[in-house]
Amino acid sequence: MRPAYLELCESGEIETRIKELYAMLSDCELCPRRCGVNRLKGEVGFCRSSAKLKVASAHPHFGEEDVLVGTHGSGTIFLSNCNLGCVFCQNYDISHLGVGYEVSEAELAEMMLELQRLGCHNINFVTPTHFTPQIVAAIKIAAERGLRVPIVYNCGGYESVQTLRLLEGIIDIYMPDIKYSRAESAEKYSKARDYFEVCKSAVREMHRQVGDLVTDERGIAVRGLLIRHLVMPNDVAGSEEILRFVAELSKNTYINIMFQYRPMFKAHEYEEINRTVKISEYRKVVETAVKLGLWRGFERI
Ligand code: SF4
Repeated sequence: MRPAYLELCESGEIETRIKELYAMLSDCELCPRRCGVNRLKGEVGFCRSSAKLKVASAHPHFGEEDVLVGTHGSGTIFLSNCNLGCVFCQNYDISHLGVGYEVSEAELAEMMLELQRLGCHNINFVTPTHFTPQIVAAIKIAAERGLRVPIVYNCGGYESVQTLRLLEGIIDIYMPDIKYSRAESAEKYSKARDYFEVCKSAVREMHRQVGDLVTDERGIAVRGLLIRHLVMPNDVAGSEEILRFVAELSKNTYINIMFQYRPMFKAHEYEEINRTVKISEYRKVVETAVKLGLWRGFERI
């Protein structure tokens, strides 16, 4: 399947999208935080990012979902900083401490092309939300130089529908987390009380754009929606309500129900999440998913 962004590059529409996305940086409303800072002048908001693109790493990744990894890996590019900032973040050095280095859009494009040369099946932008304008500009450069693999938008799910609309026809695979349905947890651990309402609107928009996940004859994802949900101790996430939403969206949704929660970063300050998840807790969530008719993306253990 031809990646979505080629058509917009050929028509020139991608230029318009880049301009519109960049314009949002002057009074930043790229994400639901709507900080209103002028990032083009070096000001920073919640995500602590100016307009300068910052990347922590770029490499083939073999720990992602099988449908992304295939035989040669997912071409993963970690962006520094984050618009969500969870207290239990597993990559806190990158997302909270801002580990990484500044790169130009042309340099980011070259990283993408190198990952394609290494045989990666996709370019997987991790935590891209706060650098969306720069990423789209880099996609244009890379496409002109021969990029032909799908783009994965691997985000925390705290996204603005307005920004997502400007990504239509550019992103092939959306991979949002759905972290919480409980407002108290979203506020306590991510300072985002409105997380679930915002996330539901964002995920509906993603699904409208790309539909359910489609794989090629090798079983490698080429287009669609792939949701991740991390099971948390003591059900602080409110997993059942999340699964109900996903099942209503489409019972064919690919949803990776994840078991790997570890109390990282500041999780030790919160007794209820300062432990790993019990197998019984995980099984309960999986059983609920099955009862609701979901079947793709997770295993019964
Ligand atoms: S992208 Fe960053 S500065 Fe812009 S609204 Fe979101 S958190 Fe604030």
